[in-house]
Amino acid sequence: MGIGNRAGTCSSCGKRLTRKHWYYRNNKYFCKKRCWVTEVEKAQTEAAKSEPSKAAAS
Ligand SMILES: [Zn+2]
Repeated sequence: MGIGNRAGTCSSCGKRLTRKHWYYRNNKYFCKKRCWVTEVEKAQTEAAKSEPSKAAAS
């Protein structure tokens, strides 16, 4: 769904993106900044939960 288009739907809430304003962050599209923040927070929470040893990456 939407693959191939430049911007399809918001990665956070799934809402269709409008041409006027959308955010592109970390290879994902978001309909508004709030959705991006939500996604980042969610990813951080899950990363901390599932990979406690990630701090040793470098
Ligand atoms: Zn959204």
